[in-house]
Amino acid sequence: MPLNFLSTPIDYLSGVGPERAKLLRNELHIQTYGDLANLFPHRYIDKTKYYKVNQLVPEAGQVQVIGKIINVKTAGTGKSTRLVATFADDSGRMELVWFRSQKQIREMLKINEPYVAFGKVARYGAQYSMAHPELELLRDHKSRKRSAMTPIYPSTETLSKRKITNTYIVKLMRRLYSEIHGSFVETLPTHLLEAMRLMPKNEAMVEIHFPSSQEKLQASIYRLKFEELFFIQMELLIQNRVRKTKIKGYVFDRVGEHFNNFFQQHLPFELTGAQKRVVKEIRSDLGTGSHMNRLLQGDVGSGKTIVALLTCLLAIDNGFQACIMAPTEILAQQHYTGVAELLAGTEIEVALLTGSVSKKDRKPIHEALEEGSLHILIGTHALIEDKVQFANLGMAIVDEQHRFGVAQRAKLWKKNDLPPHILVMTATPIPRTLAMSLYGDLDISVIDELPPGRKEIKTVHRYDKNRLAVFAFIRDEIKKGRQIYMVYPLIEESATLDYKDLQDGYESVVREFPLPEYRVSIVHGRMKPEDKDYEMERFVKGETQIMVATTVIEVGVNVPNASVMIIESAERFGLSQLHQLRGRVGRGADQSYCILMTGHKLSTESKTRLETMVSTTDGFEIAEVDLKLRGPGDLMGTRQSGVMSLRLADIIKDNQILAHAREVAKGLLHEDPQLQSRQHANVKRVMQFLQNKKGLWKYIS
Ligand code: ADP
Ligand code: MG
Repeated sequence: MPLNFLSTPIDYLSGVGPERAKLLRNELHIQTYGDLANLFPHRYIDKTKYYKVNQLVPEAGQVQVIGKIINVKTAGTGKSTRLVATFADDSGRMELVWFRSQKQIREMLKINEPYVAFGKVARYGAQYSMAHPELELLRDHKSRKRSAMTPIYPSTETLSKRKITNTYIVKLMRRLYSEIHGSFVETLPTHLLEAMRLMPKNEAMVEIHFPSSQEKLQASIYRLKFEELFFIQMELLIQNRVRKTKIKGYVFDRVGEHFNNFFQQHLPFELTGAQKRVVKEIRSDLGTGSHMNRLLQGDVGSGKTIVALLTCLLAIDNGFQACIMAPTEILAQQHYTGVAELLAGTEIEVALLTGSVSKKDRKPIHEALEEGSLHILIGTHALIEDKVQFANLGMAIVDEQHRFGVAQRAKLWKKNDLPPHILVMTATPIPRTLAMSLYGDLDISVIDELPPGRKEIKTVHRYDKNRLAVFAFIRDEIKKGRQIYMVYPLIEESATLDYKDLQDGYESVVREFPLPEYRVSIVHGRMKPEDKDYEMERFVKGETQIMVATTVIEVGVNVPNASVMIIESAERFGLSQLHQLRGRVGRGADQSYCILMTGHKLSTESKTRLETMVSTTDGFEIAEVDLKLRGPGDLMGTRQSGVMSLRLADIIKDNQILAHAREVAKGLLHEDPQLQSRQHANVKRVMQFLQNKKGLWKYIS
């Protein structure tokens, strides 16, 4: 079947028409014949099975029962009037019930004729009943050619409102298949189909919509999932290979004076094993002559800054400049303070450039940068303004990647003939399984070990009604000289109410902790950036003891003296957000606490989230639970990824198929790197098609 036939607009399929076509497009993203064929059922009703009345159980769901109607009556009065038929087989009796179209149905029903009734059963007392069953005379049922499993397709509220039912979609699918004669082009090499005993594409595309047996259905699903994951892995592997071979990078083959001097004389602590390993990984990248694009993952407090600094020193030792970009002024400021402190007594020149640096102060920075006497520039996106010209930027470090757009990062590229090496640092843990499928062989380093002597943050869950006890605890901590965060949720959809909560919360805190003994800061997204920074500053300097805020404080702020994080309405936060917020405390030598405040009513999922937070502080463990609870689509920073638009496979549940697909893809590329052999012609064609669609790599630069 030529591809262009499958690209026929869905409007042309008989039974669709412009109006329904529009609905299908808007609600299910079905534009073409091909899209419809690729609308896969999310479950099936097994119609190979017939129940006896005495085999029914409340959990049975939709079932088929063979029996006869032995009498029909009207029950109830007024609005609750209903038509009730007694349906019997040799094992017992049940009821069939209709609320709508009672008259017509009554006329159609045949007494004492064998029927197949299909529908969802419910139990009332000792009696089972089925409302609005599908009824078919047994002899018609037997003579009709039908598929054993009824597919249930994804739908939306709008679709059901507009009468686009599952039955309608099934009919459309039949029509579509009779038009396209089910001939899909095989996408996998024959040797693979044989070796893995995979169902051919054509058969799989038919079986998934019209299964002839449970076994064939499973085989078709497996085949299609495998194919889906296989091509994603092929894309990732090829992309990575292209990057490594095509994009040249500066060679940093020297570990020189600056690095060694710092390492021997100025390093304030011994590196953890994980930090050492990561530095080694980075060094080996930098020696290859390829462009480095490495993601450094490390939980909050795992010590990414020192790794960043050592990486900068490697660049400097090889005659290059480096920069560190942070998403906010405060973070840039903190990086600067930290790095400047570490570099005190060395000859390395470092400067800070943010939006609030005055024109007058910028000038010398610009000049020093252009002549190359400034080694490290730290800042916000002010760094990528056109006026900023590096003499020779060799290394760009980006902190907290999800706040930085690709466009912004791409700007750094243009400034030099070769792109600077890139190290992206993030505290958002991405579980291994997901990282593998998202990034393929893109280089990832993980700091999975905290510096020694860290005290574990004590986390508890408290209900709102225990607030007074929590306030008493806060008072004690403040008496010890500690500072407190109090964070309120801010969900866009309910922003107005959320701000009211925040304001009410702030007022009650101020009442509870009055001047002059206590000083309370408030920070939220509706404040002007200057005001926000001013309030943040006051808290950082210890001038206020309590910081009431929305999640604007989420990323990276370092106030070692803050020892208590109170999260209000904690049930409304996602796990990764809770974890990020908790990471704001536990940065000093003192015992720190995280208190999760919630109302009394909690969903099962909220309970799981809270229990997870109380039981572990391991970011990767938390990310795994998060991924299971929410699915990968919600995971921070991964939303735009093409992998998330998987049609059939599930990255978590189909983990093993994924791993297998990856191995197979690797093997194939190893054997035939350019896909030149004839037996891989079809694979090559699909790859070209996918590359034209792009999409997948949009967000990883
Ligand atoms: P993050 O990964 O969150 O950016 P930082 O780099 O800010 O973490 O480090 C957190 C704290 O841990 C800092 O105060 C830093 O000085 C300290 N630190 C980092 N590495 C070590 C180490 N190997 N031994 C002791 N302390 C360390
Ligand atoms: Mg940091």
